[in-house]
Order: sequence, then C-alpha cells, then structure tokens
Amino acid sequence: MKRVLITGAAGFLGSHLCDRFIKEGFQVVGMDNLITGDLRNIEHLFQLKEFEFYHHDVSKFIHVPGELDYILHFASPASPIDYLKIPIQTLKVGSLGIHNCLGLARAKNARLMIASTSEVYGDPQVHPQVEEYWGHVNPVGPRGVYDEAKRFQEAMTMAYHTYHGLETRIVRIFNTYGPRMRLNDGRVLPAFIGQALRGQDLTVFGDGSQTRSFCYVDDLIEGIYRLLMSDYAQPVNIGNPDEITIGEFAEEIIKLTGTDQKVVYKDLPKDDPTQRRPDISKAKEILGWEPKVSRAEGLKITYDYFKSLSEEDLYKTEHKDFKDYIRK
Ligand code: UDP
Repeated sequence: MKRVLITGAAGFLGSHLCDRFIKEGFQVVGMDNLITGDLRNIEHLFQLKEFEFYHHDVSKFIHVPGELDYILHFASPASPIDYLKIPIQTLKVGSLGIHNCLGLARAKNARLMIASTSEVYGDPQVHPQVEEYWGHVNPVGPRGVYDEAKRFQEAMTMAYHTYHGLETRIVRIFNTYGPRMRLNDGRVLPAFIGQALRGQDLTVFGDGSQTRSFCYVDDLIEGIYRLLMSDYAQPVNIGNPDEITIGEFAEEIIKLTGTDQKVVYKDLPKDDPTQRRPDISKAKEILGWEPKVSRAEGLKITYDYFKSLSEEDLYKTEHKDFKDYIRK
C-alpha cells in the first residue's frame, strides 16, 4: 500500500486530496496546525484505518515514522484576508515549511508536490497566463507575503530537483471553489453567497471589471492527481479558463440564489490583479486533462453546501482569533 503525506490536510484542498487518495487505495497521513484548516473537513476519515492525522506546524521540524511514497505540501493560508492577518506564518509555511518537507522527502525517497498558485504571476501583463511567464509581483505589497513565499517555494523545490535529483512536481493552482471552502474566508465566492444567504448586498470591489476564472474543486483534484503521477517536473497550470468579470459573477450569484439584494461597490484592494485566466495547453497535452464541470453546475453544488451550514457558521465573521498564533 502506497503512503502519502498531505500537509494542510484539514483545509479546503487538502481535505479533498485526502478523500481522493483514500479512494485510490493509499494510506493517507494528514498534517495540519489548524490555523485556517478545520477538522470538520476530515472528520469522516478518522474512523478509517487508512487515515492518520498529526496536529503539527510544518514550519517546524517534521517527523513522520515509517515509509512515505509521496508528499503533497498544501499547507498555507490561501485567501487574501487570511494572509493579511497572519503574514509571517504565511511566509514561514512557504519557506521553512517547504524546506522541512523537502528534507523529509529526501530522507524518505518520496516524490514531492507543491501547491503553487497563479499568484506567482502577480498582476499579469501576459494574458492568458502561460507557465513560461515570470510574473509581475510587488514583493512589498499586501500580497507579497503569499506571492513571494510561493515563488520561493518553487525555486527551492526546483533546486532540490536539480541538485539532489529529488522527484518533484509543481502545480500552479488558479481560483478554485467548491464545498468545504470557508464561508468567512473573504474570497469572492463565499463572500457573495454568504451575503446572499444573510440578505446583505453583494460587495463588488472596484468597478467589477477585473476578471477571474473559477475551477470546480473536483476538476482541480483530478488535474493534481494526474500531474503527481506524471513524469513532468516543470510547473503546470491547473484551472478553468472560463473567464468572467467579478461584476458579471455577482449577477450570476444573484440569479443562482434568487436574492433580492443588489450590488454595492467598495474600494479595490491594493495590487488586486486586473485579469486572470490560465493557459492550460500544457495540462491538456501532458496530462490529457481539462476541466469538465461548468460554472453553472459547480456553483449549484457549492450553493447547496453553503445552504446546509449552520446559522452559527453563516454569521461567524471571523474564522478564529489569530492572535494566539501571532508570536509563534
Ligand atoms: N472581491 C469582490 N468582493 C468581495 C471579495 C472579493 O469584488 O467581497 C474581488 C477581489 O477584489 C478580486 C476577486 O473578487 O478582484 C477575487 O478575489 P478573491 O479574494 O476571491 O481571490 P484572488 O483571486 O484575488 O486571490
């Protein structure tokens, strides 16, 4: 039985990865410090003998007894609101955290994959974004803590690949959505659906002309799985190229939820990318992968999930009091 370590296992993507690897017949070791993750996402796995969980911060030395065949480093705050609140932890998990994971991968002779991001392209001047584009990132802006950590993570991973011959994979993840996203994580989709469910107006930042391209989580997980099993060590974009303006997206959510609220406009956050769409030619060619779930289908499933949450979840505006973690 193959054994995989998934860091960030209690998070949105981490928990879906745990499910997928269990389904594929793996022994899954989940690890999370639970700063932004939520045990409820993996609660159903604790009864399985194929699942183990370590409550651990990967920015500190990692010890996992036994063999490991694969390591997927998915631990990181991932929404602009989170990484603005815990910027140092965001930098640490992308730098110290990946160094620990790479060391562990060497010790175990495991193949390692990192969760990189479209944020490595910053506010892109090449559209759609191809993997060869180096990006346009402000290192000292509010997003710098995330973007630069992820860029460092790619550099570090490539160095271990080149100098130590470690088997590595780099997935550049574009905006992804689906069940288990946090309603209060500040990202646009939970923000809009949460507002519709609470009977509040939908807050569009800027004039709503900025674009994003949203991928349903099942499609993303399939792309990740195929990339991990491939022999391709260069970065690969995984995302849905169906691009939409945030203004149009708000209208779609209003239609989907049937809310009678309207759109209100707020200031655009600093360094908010004006456009984002993955070029997925590489994923198509190398992995035979492309997204299958339309936004209409994916949004319906996600809306049903958010509707099923408790009133307490719906009205909780803060995920957690981060101050306990600030000095760690
Ligand atoms: N956004 C918005 N209203 C919100 C939250 C986000 O208009 O309540 C915008 C945000 O400014 C950005 C886009 O939606 O242009 C996507 O934001 P998100 O935080 O989801 O992720 P990003 O792609 O910027 O990392």
